[in-house]
Amino acid sequence: MANAINTMPALFVGHGSPMNAIEDNEFTRGWEKIALQIPKPKAILSISAHWYTEGTMITDAPQPKMVYDMYGFPDALYEVVYRPKGAPELAQLAKTLITKEVKIDNSWGCDHGTWSVLSKMYPEADIPVFQLSIDGNASAESQFKIGQEISALRDQGILIFGSGNIVHNLSRVSWEMESGYPWAVEFDDYIKDNIIIKQYENVINYKTAGESSQLAFYTPDHFYPLLYVLGAAKEDDQVTVFNDSCTMGSMSMTSYLFN
Ligand code: ZN
Repeated sequence: MANAINTMPALFVGHGSPMNAIEDNEFTRGWEKIALQIPKPKAILSISAHWYTEGTMITDAPQPKMVYDMYGFPDALYEVVYRPKGAPELAQLAKTLITKEVKIDNSWGCDHGTWSVLSKMYPEADIPVFQLSIDGNASAESQFKIGQEISALRDQGILIFGSGNIVHNLSRVSWEMESGYPWAVEFDDYIKDNIIIKQYENVINYKTAGESSQLAFYTPDHFYPLLYVLGAAKEDDQVTVFNDSCTMGSMSMTSYLFN
C-alpha cells in the first residue's frame, strides 16, 4: 500500500533578526515546537521577504544555493550551512498552478528568511526546499491570489511557508527594546484580530488600519509573505497564533499556523 500523503498546513513565520539562526530564544523555541506539532512535509515551498523581485520567479535547482543575504553580522552567522535539496518537479507543478507568468531563476536559492527559520525547524535539512519570489510590482490582492492558486500543493504534502514580519520598520528599530512601540502593537493586533475572524480583506487592505499601517513598514516585502499564506488557507482551517509579540520596538514576531 502506498504511503498516504498528509495534507500540510500553511505557515507564516515572523523571522526577525538573522541572528535567530544561531541563537536559542523564545522565538526559535516556538519554531522548533511548531515543527513537532505538524506532519513532516514532503517538501517546503518558501516565500521569503528576502526574494523581492520584478515579476515572479521560482527556483527549480536540484541543489539550491545558500544565499547569505545579510550584512554586518558576526562571522558565525556566515558559517551556518543549511543545504536541503531542491524540488524540481514540484517547482514545475507550482509554476503550472500560478496563472501569471513565473520564470525559473536559479540565480537565487535559499536566503536567510528561509534558512534562519528552517535550520531550527528541521535541523537535519532532510526536506527539499524551493522558493517562490515576491513580485514587488504586484498588488497586495495579486499576492493573495497566488497564495490561493498554490493552496492545492498542500494536498501534495507540501508545506506552504511564508517568512517575513508583520511589523518591520528597520529605521525605527531599537535593538535593546524587548517589546514593541504602541503603534507596532496596534498594527499587529489589527492584523491578528482580522485573521482570527477570517476577514482577510482587511488584511489585504491593511491601510484601513490607519496611521499604524504607515509606520509598520515602508515597503511591504516582509508583510507580503503573510498574504500568500492567507491565500493558501482553507475554509475549514483552524488558526494557531504563536510567538505572539513585538520586539525591538518596530518588529513583530507574530506567527500563524493554518491547519
Ligand atoms: Zn528579514
